[in-house]
Amino acid sequence: MHDRMDLHTHTIASVHAYSTLTEMIRAAADRGLELYGCSDHGPAMEGTLGAHYFINFKVIPRELFGIKVVMGAELNILNPSGTVDLSERTLEKLDYAIASIHPTCYTGKTTSENTSAYLAAIENPYVQIIGHPDDGRFPADYESLAAAAAEHGKLLEINNSSLSPKSFRKNSRENCIAILEQCRRYQTHIIVNSDAHFYCEVGGHELAMNLLKEVDFPENLVVNTSLKKAAEFLPKAASVLRT
Ligand SMILES: [Zn+2]
Ligand SMILES: [Zn+2]
Repeated sequence: MHDRMDLHTHTIASVHAYSTLTEMIRAAADRGLELYGCSDHGPAMEGTLGAHYFINFKVIPRELFGIKVVMGAELNILNPSGTVDLSERTLEKLDYAIASIHPTCYTGKTTSENTSAYLAAIENPYVQIIGHPDDGRFPADYESLAAAAAEHGKLLEINNSSLSPKSFRKNSRENCIAILEQCRRYQTHIIVNSDAHFYCEVGGHELAMNLLKEVDFPENLVVNTSLKKAAEFLPKAASVLRT
């Protein structure tokens, strides 16, 4: 499978990540990717920058070192209503957004609350990707997620970092397998991302790609293979992706 992109990565702006944007784009180009996406954490995560970081992405060229660049955010889903941590005014300025649940900034407790939170994020027009839904610390009904993502044209992420032995997330492997099973059933598209917090990790998708192979997941549902396909799911980035 030709893997052309990585849309979930963090720079020093996320504070617990350690490379600059320039280093990350360079690493993506060196790895042979055609598209790099920057998704620093939204302001609800402890230590990250405020909303102001996200308002001036217009200064960043959407092509650098021979590859395409899109600028987004990894939003924090804050509660079972699916509230995210940037205002509409700021969200409008992004090329795309991932929405994820993180332990320190989420109030939901039960599987049904987690499911509601994810479903609301899927219905949010500013969100295109659900980040690491495999995290077993926040179990959810994957059938509902896959069905809703397919209905609303959103992507569920298979997060390479979740599958690493270093990950804090729980039961990721079995949860990814369950998610992929539902995605196959509902013809839901997925995206494989690294969740890189250092330049060496950009485009590092081996664990996730191996899992796709293991479960024989249909290639036509993997957005990584085609910029044209990615443009369908990332409408605001489409002008960058189609040029
Ligand atoms: Zn995350
Ligand atoms: Zn992340």
